Amino acid sequence: MSSSRISRFYRLPPAERRRRLIDLAGLSAEAFAALDLGGLTLDVADGMIENVVGVYGLPFAVAVNFTVDGSDALVPMVIEEPSVVAAASNAARMVRPRGFSTVVSAPVMIGQIQVTDIADLDAAASVLRARSEELLGSARRLVQRLAERGGGPIALDVRPLTRSGPDGGVLVVHLHVDCRDAMGANLVNTLCEALATRVAELAGGRPGLRILSNLTDGRTVTVRCSVDDAALASDAAAGRDVRAAIAAASRFAELDPYRATTHNKGIMNGVDAVLLATGQDWRAVEAGAHAFAAGSGAYRPLAVWRERSGGLDGELVMPMAVGTVGGALHVHPGARLALALAGAHTADRLAAIAGAAGLATNLAALRALATEGIQRGHMALHARGLARAAGATGELIDRVADELAATGDVKADRAREVLARLRAPHMVKDSP
Ligand code: NAD
Repeated sequence: MSSSRISRFYRLPPAERRRRLIDLAGLSAEAFAALDLGGLTLDVADGMIENVVGVYGLPFAVAVNFTVDGSDALVPMVIEEPSVVAAASNAARMVRPRGFSTVVSAPVMIGQIQVTDIADLDAAASVLRARSEELLGSARRLVQRLAERGGGPIALDVRPLTRSGPDGGVLVVHLHVDCRDAMGANLVNTLCEALATRVAELAGGRPGLRILSNLTDGRTVTVRCSVDDAALASDAAAGRDVRAAIAAASRFAELDPYRATTHNKGIMNGVDAVLLATGQDWRAVEAGAHAFAAGSGAYRPLAVWRERSGGLDGELVMPMAVGTVGGALHVHPGARLALALAGAHTADRLAAIAGAAGLATNLAALRALATEGIQRGHMALHARGLARAAGATGELIDRVADELAATGDVKADRAREVLARLRAPHMVKDSP
């Protein structure tokens, strides 16, 4: 795509936004038609999960201004919360001169095979370590197609857990599998199930659970960005204060798990919205993110911000198990459209874009908190929603919303009153 910098995109009506995206991303109008049905028909939904009675809608939006690893990207986001898409687009504009840069690790997932009731834990661990090449070989033979794509089982670890207890001696074997462009849960689970009997036999114990771990600390994305003072505020002097306040907010999150949790929630606003739009298992990424954040024993922020001369540097590191094949993707046209819009043809690119969205929403939230307070932006959007709900159309939406926001009384009955008053002079003038 040429440029993701679409000025005043937010001002366009939805149909005009679609036309701009069709031109920019080189997609067809038919591809977008999938969204008219909420991205999914009842029939398809019925084939996806059990006991289906309908399809549930959420807004599908596109954040603009993103540059990720030197290429522009449109960022599809599905989310019910106002302000997140605007925040992502604004932060991406601030970062745009240098863009987001990412390092995506190899897509290595961990499968766990638990073995219980082991009489001699040390002997079991040594046997399994000695036979790891043989076990890896049998795992590789089961996924030859994946090996042809450059992936497959790459390592096997043995982790003794306890010598005694209700389950006797317990150890767990970790099978590390490069899943290429798949998220890989089913792939890894299948391999663990296939190896479990042999692993338990070699260990002299009983096979226990065999399933992937969602703590995918071997499959991470690192996103970095750098913002100049002048981009943080209307002038460089004010920008210096905002920069200092954002760095202080980062240190607060590094010291306090109560703040770190909210800091990370702001990151997940961006990440989850991209994951939802692109049909990913966002619970898997959420679970992994929070376990990773607590990896040191204390719950820590996933992204930190540091001052440098003239600006601010941010870095996010988090697990990111995503796929561009498999899962819901083969049946969900809305998710496929989102991947096409984002130009995410590989799991690496999708991980980079989702991570960039997370660092962007984190930056926007910290900037808002550090400056005007986050509630003002929220209230302005909420006021527009109430104005519409009260029946305002055209320029009256802004006039009602502005008055609600200015008085700080952002409520539905107040919106109706203001609208009635603003309409009244027209009615008087129009009457004979
Ligand atoms: P999947 O089962 O559809 O497998 C992916 C398939 O894609 C494989 O068969 C592979 O051979 C094929 N493939 C084609 N091109 C490929 C490429 N370039 N790279 C890699 N594989 C390629 O999907 P999956 O990714 O194994 O599993 C994901 C699903 O599992 C998600 O829907 C998730 O919700 C679900 N799940 C998650 C958990 C968990 O997270 N705890 C547990 C069970 C299931």
